[in-house]
Amino acid sequence: MKNKSILIVEDEPNIAEVVSLYLVRADFQVRVAKDGVAAMEILEKQIPDLLILDIMLPEVDGFAITRWLRERSQVPIIMLTARRDEIDRITGLELGADDYVVKPFSPQELVSRVRAVLRRTNQQSPSEKETQPITSGDLTISPMARTVTLKDELLSLTAKEFDLLTLLVTHPRQVFTRDQLLERVWGESEYIDPSTVTVHIRRLREKIEQDPSSPVHLLTVWGVGYKYES
Ligand code: CA
Repeated sequence: MKNKSILIVEDEPNIAEVVSLYLVRADFQVRVAKDGVAAMEILEKQIPDLLILDIMLPEVDGFAITRWLRERSQVPIIMLTARRDEIDRITGLELGADDYVVKPFSPQELVSRVRAVLRRTNQQSPSEKETQPITSGDLTISPMARTVTLKDELLSLTAKEFDLLTLLVTHPRQVFTRDQLLERVWGESEYIDPSTVTVHIRRLREKIEQDPSSPVHLLTVWGVGYKYES
């Protein structure tokens, strides 16, 4: 079992440091972002298993990050607030955070909340098929957390790499042309050079193939496109 990953978004360095210390001691894998922009940059690439999010942040605040993130992921969020009158907004329909902690708080209390939220969200039976993890050989894709692991190692994929891999793995042996992949993964809203697909396939091979120069999973079908073989 890999350690659960947690992203802490907190602009007060001493709080971020203490919280991350306690979480690391509790065997979590921890990253810290010190403002909303840094957090979004990290989240674009990878969604953690849980997010600890301070509300009062410079530039982009915790409310805005949550709204932005909810369009792409249902990752559990614990919000940190300094004000009791924010609690209704945090837990209400508007944001639907999974839990909140009011400052000042004890780090041990926060660690307990993290464990409880992870336990709860792990137990929830996904109502839709596409929320269940997809396994193919050593590869496991978690659509909810938007993570991919290979032999239990978390891979670092960009959002498009994730979408491309998920599409191919969920349609094994089906051949997609580059245009079809562009349309399904990048959408039709803007013009993207078809060689973008080639570049993404190459990067994915470097990440999931034992020998990227002679792939056995992400295969080129000459003159047509690409397919995935398990
Ligand atoms: Ca703050």
